Formats: sequence, structure tokens, C-alpha cells
Amino acid sequence: MIAQHALNWQQQQADAITDLHELLELLQLTLADLPRALQACREFPLRVPRSFVARMEKGNPEDPLLRQVLAVGEEMEQAPGFSHDPLAEAQHTPVPGILHKYHGRVLFIVTGACAVNCRYCFRRHFPYSDYMPTRERFAEALAWLAQQEDVNEVILSGGDPLTLTDRKLTELVAALAEIPHLKRLRIHSRSPVMIPERINSELIELLGDARWQSVLVLHANHANELTSELAQGVNALRQRGVTVLNQAVLLAGVNDTVAAQEALVNNLFDCGVLPYYLHQLDKVQGAAHFMVPDSQALQLMDGLRARVPGFLLPQLVRENAGDKSKTPVVAKVSIV
Ligand SMILES: *Cc1c(COP(=O)(O)O)cnc(C)c1O
Ligand code: SF4
Repeated sequence: MIAQHALNWQQQQADAITDLHELLELLQLTLADLPRALQACREFPLRVPRSFVARMEKGNPEDPLLRQVLAVGEEMEQAPGFSHDPLAEAQHTPVPGILHKYHGRVLFIVTGACAVNCRYCFRRHFPYSDYMPTRERFAEALAWLAQQEDVNEVILSGGDPLTLTDRKLTELVAALAEIPHLKRLRIHSRSPVMIPERINSELIELLGDARWQSVLVLHANHANELTSELAQGVNALRQRGVTVLNQAVLLAGVNDTVAAQEALVNNLFDCGVLPYYLHQLDKVQGAAHFMVPDSQALQLMDGLRARVPGFLLPQLVRENAGDKSKTPVVAKVSIV
């Protein structure tokens, strides 16, 4: 086997495991409900970079990293209230791939592709063909952005914008830089967690450009996902003035304990990353087995608050269609 660090990020991305049998063999595991798991793979393909698999514990079917990426039979079960498009996003799309829901900032979905397929993700029902990174679609989005003078922040999202080649990304950001009212450039990406080499000199150059106030929002859910290579990359970005934050998703059996959250936020800070959001799961068909009830989530936050400094507390939020921001999850006040 080739040492993963000998490969550049694009080679690692291309070399990801997509075969369930191979993943199980590498981790010395067997699945009781293999037929339905294979069926789940046909609905939403299995995809996981080898370096991420290397951070999992062999022989442990409950490994918190594995649980996020392993296709299982439970995904095939219908759960009431879980739908294909829980966020009803179509009505906030002025041009293809732009989502404008919140004041001053827009989400620009540059690609449907990701370095990894997370089983809890709404992307499992994504219409990929609508989000191809084509020159025509980018041109249309750029023309629209140029006219929105009250938008000062563009958030490159997806899918995962850092699956784009450096060339494509640099070209896009150069075009965005021509729009004078855009001040902040934000990237939402799980790629650097999966493949830390993704924070390469081109990306550091791009985000470190003094033209922008740049923010990179990573997505890590468990302390075991964080590596010294990631810390090195983040450090290089921070030296160039980039703000680096993390959003996590609250997932049953992955990070739904105070101990898991405490280790996550402490290790994030060790890597130079501040916790930003802890998301309640979007109710997407096939992900019901990851759901943590609000009452338990709030208890968890109370437990975490008693263990870590305030600046390491993420905001517990959910996304409600129609709201003007992410919605804080708070205890219901009962009026007697
Ligand atoms: C989540 C999201 C944002 C970013 O929200 P912040 O609170 O600024 O992090 C922006 N636009 C859309 C459509 C979103 O879903
Ligand atoms: S969009 Fe994020 S959460 Fe969804 S599959 Fe891609 S990396 Fe995972």
C-alpha cells in the first residue's frame, strides 16, 4: 500500500474507498445486515478517504468516525417527518446555486462534490447536475452578485468547495474580488479534516490575500478526526490572518456525550480552531438514526458549559426553513 502522505490532495481524493467490502476488510469487520447496507450504498454511494479510515479503530463497529461514513441498513427505513428536501431551499434561489436567506451574506454552492460522503447529510438527495462547477453557471452567479450591493460576504459552499482544483478556485475567487462590495470571503469545507494536505500553498495564498477578510469554517464532529497535519495547516492560515472556525453536527453514537464534545472543543483549540455552531440534524430521509432529541442536546450543552471556557462553547442551532438566521435551540419555557 502506498503511504497516503506521499500523495497530493487530489490523488488522495481520487483514491478514496468507495467499496463497502474493502472498507469492512480494512477495519476487520463484518456487517450483520449487509444486503440492506449495500442497498443504502446504491442510494448514496459510500465514499471515504483512506487517511480518515486510518484514524479509525480496527475491529470496532462503534468507532465514532466509522459511524459517520458507513452505510447501514437503518438508512433504508422510513421515518415520519424526515424528508428529501427538509429546508425547502428552492424559493431562496435567485440564480442557480445561490442561496440568499440571511442579511448581508449568500451561500454560493460551487459544486455538488465532496471528499467524503457523510451518511447524515442532506446531500444524499442532492440534484448533482444542478450544481456542476461550470463557467456558465459561475458567470450567472457573479453577474447577480455584482448587482447585490447589500451583500458583503460570499460563502463558498457545496458539496465541498475545496474539492475544486486550485486553478478553478483561484479563477473564481479572482472574479469575486472584482466585485467591490464583497468584503468577506468564507469557505465551508470538510476537506481539510479529511485530507489535511488540502491546505496547500495555493489555498494559503488565496485565503491569505489582503483583499479579503477570510474565514474558513471546517467541519469536524469528533476529536479523533483532528491530526497534527491539520493543526499545521491551520497555523499557516492563521499566520496569514485567516479566521478558522468549526461547525459540527450533533450525532447519536458519535458525539452525543459531554466527554466527546469536551474533547472535541479542546482539541479544536489545540489546532487553532474555534467552535462555531453545533447543528441539530436536518430531518433528512435516511438519517433518523443519528437524531438526538432537543432535551438531550440541551442537557449536553449544560454539561459542556460546566467543563470548558465560554469561548469554546459552540452555539446549538438548527436550520428552520423561512427563518432569518440559524435558530438557537433553547429550553422551552413553560408558562404556568
Ligand atoms: C447557514 C447559512 C448561512 C451562514 O449563516 P451564518 O450564521 O452566517 O454562519 C448563510 N446563508 C445560508 C443560506 C445558510 O444556510
Ligand atoms: S456536504 Fe459536508 S456533511 Fe455533507 S457529505 Fe459533504 S462533507 Fe459531508
